[in-house]
Amino acid sequence: MKQRPSFPVKLETVAQTKNNSVSTSPSWSQGQKSAGNKTPEPIPASGFGLDSAAVRANMVKKLLQSGLEDDLVLQAMGTVPRHTFIDSALANQAYEDTSLPIGFGQTISKPNVVARMIELLRQGRNLKITGKLGRVLEIGTGCGYQAAVLSLLSTEVYSIERIKGLHEKAKENLRPMRLPNLHLIFGDGMPGFAGGAPYAGIIAAAGGDNIPKEWIDQLDTGGRLVAPVVTAGGQQSLVVIDKNKDGIEKSILENVLFVPLKPGII
Ligand code: SAH
Repeated sequence: MKQRPSFPVKLETVAQTKNNSVSTSPSWSQGQKSAGNKTPEPIPASGFGLDSAAVRANMVKKLLQSGLEDDLVLQAMGTVPRHTFIDSALANQAYEDTSLPIGFGQTISKPNVVARMIELLRQGRNLKITGKLGRVLEIGTGCGYQAAVLSLLSTEVYSIERIKGLHEKAKENLRPMRLPNLHLIFGDGMPGFAGGAPYAGIIAAAGGDNIPKEWIDQLDTGGRLVAPVVTAGGQQSLVVIDKNKDGIEKSILENVLFVPLKPGII
């Protein structure tokens, strides 16, 4: 194993505290005893309290087996408690390689896709000496999971969301983690976010018919953009754009399935 990077906060500590308090004191336990009934069986551990780190480590192992290889991305994926970003009814699926509903008709991307996109972003040529990306813009905060992963790998992250309810949810999900370099913005990301530009990296979590010109304008020279874009036949593909001093280079990679990029705020 290579050395762990020194992240700004120990997210695992936050996750453990949050979960332990739930799993060690089930709300029914005291009342049941005084009622004089048969002592209830203890609720079995859900697997997301004491051992969430182990379940997450297993997810990382699978990411590695599927061909992902950037140590820093894998470590960040092993650090952020994905189960705290989704509805508790779905928490037992949090570390499976599946996309899950986050409300408002939107979904959190599969861990594999999150890791792949961030790995691609980091393969651009704009890494700092620390191995981190500089300023990054994420279009589509959703529940805030990918923004948390990005914040561990970038100097500053600006993440914009067009659905007010999700913006608020992400704020709540991220608050305990105290990530001072993560800035959540409620707004339409179609014109990018000029406030944080120029960006070393831009990553979109929603797919449009093309890449807005503003995103390319707001990309720094040497920066990279990774986004799903609808190509021929309505199929979405992952597109990578590198901005060089001579212009831009575009690569079309594998097919993907993201929620649509939509204009305006709701
Ligand atoms: N990265 C997110 C994935 C969220 S799904 C996560 O980890 O949960 C994609 C999100 O993009 C949705 O929440 C959707 O509302 C948002 N979105 C779509 N079009 C947008 C736009 N023009 N500006 C900002 N957000 C947008």
